[in-house]
Amino acid sequence: MLKDKNQERTSLEKLGEFGLIDHLTKNFEIKHKSTVKGIGDDAAVFNHSDKTVLTTDLLIEGVHFDLSYMPLKHLGYKAVMVNLSDVYAMNATATQITVSLAVSNRFPLEALEELYAGIALAAKVFNVDLIGGDTTSSTSGMLISITAIGEAKEKKITYRDGAKPNDLLVVSGDLGAAYMGLQVLEREKEVFKVNPNNQPDLSPYSYIVERQLKPEARKDIVELLKDLEVQPTAMIDISDGLSSEILHLCKNSKVGCNLFEEKIPLDPTVISSCEEFNVDSTMVALSGGEDYELLFTITQNDFDKIKGNPSLTVIGHMADESEGAHLVTRGNTKIELTAQGWNSFKNND
Ligand code: ADP
Ligand code: MG
Repeated sequence: MLKDKNQERTSLEKLGEFGLIDHLTKNFEIKHKSTVKGIGDDAAVFNHSDKTVLTTDLLIEGVHFDLSYMPLKHLGYKAVMVNLSDVYAMNATATQITVSLAVSNRFPLEALEELYAGIALAAKVFNVDLIGGDTTSSTSGMLISITAIGEAKEKKITYRDGAKPNDLLVVSGDLGAAYMGLQVLEREKEVFKVNPNNQPDLSPYSYIVERQLKPEARKDIVELLKDLEVQPTAMIDISDGLSSEILHLCKNSKVGCNLFEEKIPLDPTVISSCEEFNVDSTMVALSGGEDYELLFTITQNDFDKIKGNPSLTVIGHMADESEGAHLVTRGNTKIELTAQGWNSFKNND
């Protein structure tokens, strides 16, 4: 019979802090020549030939993740993705990460091994070196803070403030799936509470559940833009939902925007699950969040370079600041965008 992994529980106290750090990090290899010194000294040392970008995120159990449906390996992977996504949103290459952890004694060593298996997979697939971190105890629950470091040539770095009126607004992939995946997982959690013997069949929802549990940062889009010789004028990653990110670009760039509802890319499983949950798919794309797609603007001259690319969709264009930011609906009415999606009380037509 297969050994049930959950049966093995090695207490963290048995290893001690240094034993634990060593155990969790011993199989990580340094791949980048810009990493001069990784784990094992008072500080890491790295040496980039171009500009360095740095971003950090803090994830707290019960606030940002729920371990009742989030396997620890997925959590480790996702925690890295969330940070790499911010590096790619600067049009930079991610090169190093640090991982800081606070865990209560509720977690055995085997749980942290799972978490680090996810971190290791992400580091391997996305080619980043783990160069340090910190490990400490918490009175309850788990906290994970990851810092990602990257590099980019100065003229390639893409800020939020470079969009101009008439630039095209482009998004990678499709939107709303991670949010709908979360709805499915939350529903199954409630069913499980009532009937723990119920084995949910999540296969019809595999795409949206995977988008929630195993998001992929869009390193490939940064590489694609380089290959296509497209320099975005402004860029941001979609963590909070399309409308909130559009408003960030508008505010920072001092422009307006027209977003066309009919152009928003949605996977068929998002459309069908929205029908099942009786929610509006446009609203889900605008406000759902956790898509980790890239949203950027390009000059109209670059349109031919991206036209027809299956990974990219033109969803609107920027406008004068005085025009404001609007959703143009399928029925051709203009509705003001708000961070929550749209302002249903303010119809401008
Ligand atoms: P210090 O006491 O100087 O903060 P630590 O004993 O906390 O050093 O860490 C020793 C080494 O292990 C350092 O290189 C640190 O960056 C690394 N490290 C500590 N915790 C982690 C972790 N959770 N993941 C990866 N590296 C870690
Ligand atoms: Mg320390």
